[in-house]
Amino acid sequence: MARADAESAQRVRKITVTLADGRELMYFGAVPEHPAEYPDRRQLDPVHVQSQARRDQLLGEWVIVACHRQDRTFQPDTSHCPLCPSTADRLTEVPAPDYQVVVFENRFPTLGTRDPDDAGDGDGDGLLAGRPAGGRCEVVCFSPRHDASFADLTPGHAAVIMAAWVDRSAELARIPGVEQVYCFENRGDEIGVTLSHPHGQIYAYPYITPRTDRMLDTCARYRHRTGRNLFDDLLAAEQADTSRIVLQGRHWTAFVPYAAHWPYEVHLYPRRRVPGLVALSDAARAEFCELYLGLLRRFDRLFGSPAPYISAWHQAPVHRGGDEFALHLELFTVRRAPGKLKYLAGSESGMGAFANDVAPETAAERLRQAG
Ligand SMILES: [Zn+2]
Repeated sequence: MARADAESAQRVRKITVTLADGRELMYFGAVPEHPAEYPDRRQLDPVHVQSQARRDQLLGEWVIVACHRQDRTFQPDTSHCPLCPSTADRLTEVPAPDYQVVVFENRFPTLGTRDPDDAGDGDGDGLLAGRPAGGRCEVVCFSPRHDASFADLTPGHAAVIMAAWVDRSAELARIPGVEQVYCFENRGDEIGVTLSHPHGQIYAYPYITPRTDRMLDTCARYRHRTGRNLFDDLLAAEQADTSRIVLQGRHWTAFVPYAAHWPYEVHLYPRRRVPGLVALSDAARAEFCELYLGLLRRFDRLFGSPAPYISAWHQAPVHRGGDEFALHLELFTVRRAPGKLKYLAGSESGMGAFANDVAPETAAERLRQAG
């Protein structure tokens, strides 16, 4: 059964179908023409999901315990990739023989609970407090081509992905109990990616993530002290300084932050502050696709081989901070030199205290030259 949804702001077609185990799958873009003609013909056991959120009382943050993920698919060979389109003799997660961009519920999600009785808050009173971790995890297949990468896509194709991010950010925020929507991509074996097919993920968390929570707190203190917005002032300071700017468009500015944590780290901000992807103008969305592809290609040229990276969309939480938070993307590689990785060792992992071996000004210069 397929259902045509309202067209997104960028008029990208979206068709939702149901997989054999009841999960939702959404085709974005014009391909396939008739998704309903491709039902999921697999025999799938129902998904067993029972995630728990446990409170770390010392750090004041939640930790997800998701034991059901231990048996998830890990680095299958190309002929068994679950994200490639289905063929006559091989059925995958995507029933159609071709697609542009596909989003579906993860069969091995970190977040989520299938028991409706778990939907309550269940917040324990004691120090050892846990609760069912509701929310939802989705997979975004960027391309039907197994050997493609985001950097290879055309701006038009990237625009379909942007439309999917916008659609999911709006829809997931409406799920009761969801507090934050996070779109991201892990790329490369070095990051621990379990499937090499080009894809990203979307997490709809049942709480505000620790980093976002900290940013909102520092913003509130800055507002109290100065009456101004911290994101606005930081972006203005980087623009005035210019030494760490990598790329600028009419709508976006990309720079290596003054206090970058990673050897090569770029933050991409819209010039007009908005809380999330949904609030971006069509013109800003279109320009993002051009600039982002340029950035990814620069990362790939830095070391002479495709860079492992993490690309993270920071959006305001669903119910807090929308008037202060600034949507932005943080892109960084864990590579610090050809063949050398930056490991999070004693200082970073043990104390959360980062040390960066590359001056942010040098990183910005190298990224500018890689254009
Ligand atoms: Zn594949």
